[in-house]
Amino acid sequence: MTREFITVTGARENNLRDVSVRIPKRAITAFVGVSGSGKSSLVFDTIAAEAQRQLNETFSAFVRGFLPKLGQPDADLIENLSTAIVVDQKRLGGGSRSTLGTVTDINPALRLLFSRRSVPHVGPRNAFGFNDPAGMCPTCGGVGRKVALDHAVMFDRSKSLNEGAILHRDWAVDSWYWHVHAQSGRFDMDKPLRDYTDAEWQELLFGSGGKVAVAGPGKALNLEYVGVEARFNRAYIDVEETSSRKKEVIARYTTSIRCPDCDGTRLAEGPRTATVAGHTLPSLCSLDLVSLHALLPTLRDDATGPVVDEAVARIAALIDMGLGYLTLDRETSTLSGGESQRIKMVRHLGSSLVDVMYVFDEPTIGLHPRDVGRMNDLLHRLRDKGNTVLVVEHDTDVITRADHVVELGPRAGTEGGRIVYEGDVAGLETSGTLTGEFLHRPVTVREAPRTPTGHLAVTGAKVHNLSGFDVDVPLGVLVAVTGVAGSGKSTLVREVLVPQHPDTIVVDQSAVATSSRSTPATWTGVMDPIRKLYAKANGVKPALFSFNSEGACPTCNGIGAISSDLAYLDGVRSTCTDCEGRRYTDAVLALTVDGRSISDALDMTAAQALEFFDAKEITKRLASVVDVGLGYLTLGQPLSTLSGGECQRLKLANRLHEKGTVFVLDEPTTGLHMSDCGHLLGLLDRLVDGGSSVIVVEHNLDVIAHADWVIDLGPDGGDDGGTIVFEGPPSALLSAPGSFTGEHLARHVA
Ligand code: ADP
Ligand code: ADP
Ligand code: ZN
Ligand code: ZN
Repeated sequence: MTREFITVTGARENNLRDVSVRIPKRAITAFVGVSGSGKSSLVFDTIAAEAQRQLNETFSAFVRGFLPKLGQPDADLIENLSTAIVVDQKRLGGGSRSTLGTVTDINPALRLLFSRRSVPHVGPRNAFGFNDPAGMCPTCGGVGRKVALDHAVMFDRSKSLNEGAILHRDWAVDSWYWHVHAQSGRFDMDKPLRDYTDAEWQELLFGSGGKVAVAGPGKALNLEYVGVEARFNRAYIDVEETSSRKKEVIARYTTSIRCPDCDGTRLAEGPRTATVAGHTLPSLCSLDLVSLHALLPTLRDDATGPVVDEAVARIAALIDMGLGYLTLDRETSTLSGGESQRIKMVRHLGSSLVDVMYVFDEPTIGLHPRDVGRMNDLLHRLRDKGNTVLVVEHDTDVITRADHVVELGPRAGTEGGRIVYEGDVAGLETSGTLTGEFLHRPVTVREAPRTPTGHLAVTGAKVHNLSGFDVDVPLGVLVAVTGVAGSGKSTLVREVLVPQHPDTIVVDQSAVATSSRSTPATWTGVMDPIRKLYAKANGVKPALFSFNSEGACPTCNGIGAISSDLAYLDGVRSTCTDCEGRRYTDAVLALTVDGRSISDALDMTAAQALEFFDAKEITKRLASVVDVGLGYLTLGQPLSTLSGGECQRLKLANRLHEKGTVFVLDEPTTGLHMSDCGHLLGLLDRLVDGGSSVIVVEHNLDVIAHADWVIDLGPDGGDDGGTIVFEGPPSALLSAPGSFTGEHLARHVA
């Protein structure tokens, strides 16, 4: 055995069937195969998990005490691993103090530049940091936002003070504070608040000082007059200790507003207003990266040169990743999963580590075909520095440029879990596997678009970079909203179209809201009829099969696993040792239907269960799950283990039979193999043909070509985007001038 390969022998995590594989080091290996075939089980749950576990073993017992106890992956042998860096789509954390500038370490370079060169000269570097007491805005503590009374919740402006216009109970009619207002002589107690002048409103909120003689219930006092907001701040916001009642009041009556003192820039006055060549630090941080990249080199001098050059190189790397439309002041919590992953990639590219194993999870998500090439270059640069790159991908451009390909399959779930191809791309093309077959298949453009049944009028689209256009979105057809990353697709759909038409249904990739006992069976509603079926067949009560009954394993309460939550790390689940994952007591497991226990039923995939059960209540719902391409999920698999794309398809399964609904889907092809895209398109067609409307935000050329109508935004991202480049059928998009989408579509049609 040479040290040039990572070797895995006998891997059996999830659906893997004794998989053995050799992965070349210092090369790019693409892991391909239909969704559910076992790619993640091999790459993340076996290889990366073992690398992480071995690394943890090297720490002292003290440190290990703080780390999750990672079980050994189910495999006979894993050899020759390098340290793994997993670059996934989990959002960049860091809370409200974390911005693109802080996570990329570009802000420190700007701080240095300002500490050396700004006028008036303000001194030390930390004086320009909003996470440093020396530089932060004292009002908001460097967060740029502050908690303030929510006037919309606090006041009913249609009412007068006598009618109870102040909704918080401290100011209820006849309360002590209400008497202070009533007897102050400062207000017309019968005038509705909406008719107040600005001065009256200001007096009500903050008061103008002075005393009020109040004869209240039982007491008479000469009191300082305090306005409603001022008093609210004193009582609830500017307090050290908060009781749970106060927390409730704060949650209900306050909102987060841009900090009025620093105008959201987070900085104290000195660092906020100092300039270098006429530019303030906040103004640089609010420039999109492309503009900043052009400007920054003009601000350097000999002393700051090397640091500024390094920052410029980082900005260039971010632009290369298709992120040139972002600004340094963008809070990381507002970035999408795909954007977060690409930023993490840039961070690693800057590192000088070699001989590391990088593991990527569909890094092309959210990327326009135009930008995939640059992403690919980055993977190659990581390899050329002497690293091993493992990438789970469906994108043909990434697959065809890999050094080595491992295909899992042949299908999903129990019908997958084997290696069906191992070798180079040339061999894959003639291998006869699903991926080989679809690799060079041309895109087919819809010839005869359906006729719309009406349209949704979107007017004055002017949020983020959108230029303020109007657009008609046709109804009763399949509409694709396209454009390079940052062109404004999500903004148009989520922040303009949906709010203007609240009857639309957004089916996104966010986690299905659930408890730890949620599974496809509970979520789709088949668990109840299955329980009833088992009860009827065995002459017992259905409740015996419930998680909160005496029939459930008392140790895991019918979950089959014990999960431990860790404050800063992902929770760990381990199989319940009492029931060995079977969830129920032996007595219940002895009750069967056609020889299968309830635990066996929960271990069936949706597709198997569809064959097994013949009660209509059960099969109708399971058929929907199979229809959306999730037939490989087992009925009992915790929903928390589903990927974003799987969550989205599961949500869609529950709404499949609606008519006349306007569905909005964000990148529904995420995580889908090209052979499954056809199924998805069939599904979208059935929704439309059944009388619904479907609006998809997509980069996938098969989906765009299949749409009846395309709205292409751009031409580029950020400030260079935000306008409509094209609207019409895909056949006309092929020759649309100035559309990157049209250009790439034309390259891929037959
Ligand atoms: P891929 O990455 O190719 O989409 P996965 O490795 O995620 O496939 O899944 C392979 C099979 O294992 C699927 O049938 C999936 O439902 C199942 N599976 C994945 N994760 C879990 C889990 N945590 N528990 C039980 N089954 C799982
Ligand atoms: P797309 O969906 O086409 O990738 P987006 O609608 O996400 O594009 O972004 C369009 C523009 O709006 C970009 O310049 C982006 O940086 C900006 N943007 C998006 N979300 C926010 C936000 N929450 N705060 C500030 N700017 C945003
Ligand atoms: Zn502030
Ligand atoms: Zn148990």
